[in-house]
This record gives sequence, structure tokens and C-alpha cells, in this order.
Amino acid sequence: MQSAISINNLKIAYGNQTVIEEMSIDIAPKEFLVLLGPSGCGKSTLLNAIAGLQNITAGEVWISGKNVTWEEPKDRGIGMVFQSYALYPRMSVRKNLSFGLRVAGLPKLEIEARVSRIAALLHLDTLLDRRPAELSGGQRQRVAIGRALVREVDVFLFDEPLSNLDAKLRNELRVEIKKLHQRLGNTMIYVTHDQVEALTLADRIAIMRDGVIQQLASPAEIYHRPANLFVAAFIGAPAMNFIEGRINTDRGSITFESKGLRADLDGYAFKTPPATGPATLGFRPDHLVLDGIARGLPTLSGHVSVVEPMGPEAVLWFDWFDKSLSLRLMGDVTLKPGDALAPGLDMTKASLFGADGSRL
Ligand code: ADP
Repeated sequence: MQSAISINNLKIAYGNQTVIEEMSIDIAPKEFLVLLGPSGCGKSTLLNAIAGLQNITAGEVWISGKNVTWEEPKDRGIGMVFQSYALYPRMSVRKNLSFGLRVAGLPKLEIEARVSRIAALLHLDTLLDRRPAELSGGQRQRVAIGRALVREVDVFLFDEPLSNLDAKLRNELRVEIKKLHQRLGNTMIYVTHDQVEALTLADRIAIMRDGVIQQLASPAEIYHRPANLFVAAFIGAPAMNFIEGRINTDRGSITFESKGLRADLDGYAFKTPPATGPATLGFRPDHLVLDGIARGLPTLSGHVSVVEPMGPEAVLWFDWFDKSLSLRLMGDVTLKPGDALAPGLDMTKASLFGADGSRL
């Protein structure tokens, strides 16, 4: 199948500062790809390079089977939504939505049909005669999305479209964007530094650091099998717990050993056969269970330091040697600060990383 977008050996530098290292990605038609990473890792630069708003140092960008590396943004067959809405303040919502189409000289009837279709899709139909100043932040961002959608192109690029909105609106509009994608079936590339947006929206997430993709995979794969320590620590809230120790293969069995912990690794899916040496064990707060001893699991005995109730669940922090570890519990929690506990660790769900930080 032909890719909707191909990025081939892309390199971007400002002077002698490289922002995107040799990068290649193929994005399938209808795919929702999220570019995720900390501020400054090159997400917007990459998106702008696909849009044609960014000079590139080397490489090619292909969209719908066509090499568009040297094409103007308007000729690339894309629609783009930015973080700031930048609507025309003196124009009504209707005019804001139709402006680009009028400039492009589309017939009046076609423009009207598209505007009413998109207005219905984005719940803007009753707001068409208002000006941006008469709209809420969420409604303005809907108009900005609508302005991209009326172009009816195959590829949409979003650059942190929700980050100017308050938490409640952000959650609502996130669901709207997902519905929109399910209904329209366009190819979407979406930049965010918010892991919840990435996990909830993406078919695949590309996690970036310093201009290099660390892992390109489904949200489930990234959550359960992070490729390295950076990805493991970046995804998940509370963050993954880490314990430094050693893998020992010398006694005929494979174990992870650390001060106060010795755990069998028989059920762990190693990528390559393990060798004795330093390693970091990573496990999510949801991979610990309170009845570890009864289940015969390796346990981490300590004392509760803090309980954070979060409605249907709670996060319980406990001290284990010099570390503060977290455990997620469903339902009401009766444990209090100072209580002893010995939660068990399901090693089949854990992650192990070698001395260079990559997954073992
Ligand atoms: P992100 O979108 O992930 O926050 P950006 O793509 O905006 O990151 O920026 C990536 C890197 O490129 C940053 O280190 C930033 O400082 C640098 N950068 C961005 N624009 C320019 C520019 N015009 N000149 C020099 N460096 C820039």
C-alpha cells in the first residue's frame, strides 16, 4: 500500500545545530500519528517541514505518492491547525470558515455546502454569524479546526491545537478530534507534549528526544514495552518506578538482584538472551499488587508515606530503602501513612533496561 506521507532521510539544522537527525518515517493512509516529546525536541520543526513551512537541510517529503519537497505549502494538499487560533477578528465564523475557499475561487454553492457540512460536524451551526470575540476558547479552536477541514484534503497536521485551552475543554475537544478522525478517515499528524493526548488519540506514537525518534509504535506497545529508559520515564503518570541492580545468569537460572529484592525472570520476554551485568528494573504503579505474599510474588516491603485518592482509584506512595515507589489501587484505600506493606511485583509485566538504557 502506498504511504500517505513518507519522510526520507530528513535532516534539519540551524547553522551547525542539528535539530532533526537523519529521520525516515512512513505514515499509512488514515493513520493518526502523534509526535510526542519534551519541549524543544523538534516536533514542530518536523511538522513544519512536512507542511512546507520549514527549510530542510537534506532528505525528501512525499505526500500521496508525490515528492513535495520543493512544493509550496498551499500545493501540498494539507490542512493545518495551530496552537493559537489566529482567526480573523472582524469576520463572522461563517466568513472565517469560507475565507480560504473564496480566495481559491471556489464556486459559491460549493463553499456554502462545505461550510454547512463542517459547521454541523464541529457543532458550529448555531454560531455561524458570531465573531471570534463572541466565542469561548473551545469554540474558537473548533473554528480553527473547521478552517482546515473545509479544504477537504487527505492530510491534516495539528500543532498542539489544545494546549491553550483549560483542562475540561481540552478533554472535550480531544474526544471531538478522535470522533472527527473516525468519521473522516483522513491521515493526521498531531504534535503534543501531553502524553494523555498521545495515548488516547494515536494509532502510533513517535516519541522524540533531541531530534531523534526513540520509539515509533502503538500506544499499548509504548506503554507496556518501552524501548528505552527515556520512553519508560516519559510515558505514564505517576511515572514508572525504577530499581537499579544486576541480572544474574550464573546460577543456572535468570534473576534480577538488588538490595532487598531477588526476582526470578523466567516469565520475562527478553529481546535477546540475557547476560550477567548491570540492569535497571522498571515497573508501573499498576504492576504492584497488595497481596504479593499470598500470590508468591517477589515483594518490596516498606511503609506507606502518602495516599493520593483519585476518585475510582488511588495512588499509594511507599518508602523502600532510599526510594519512594508508587502503587495504583482500585477502589477505596484503608491504608494510612506509616502502615507497613509488602506489595508483590508481577515480573512478567516489568521492563528491564541494560547499562546503555535500552530494553533487554
Ligand atoms: P518542539 O516543537 O519539540 O518544542 P521545536 O521544533 O520548536 O521543538 O524546536 C526544536 C529545536 O530547534 C529547539 O532546540 C529550538 O531551540 C531550535 N529552533 C527552533 N527554531 C529555531 C530557529 N529559527 N533558529 C535556531 N534554532 C531554532
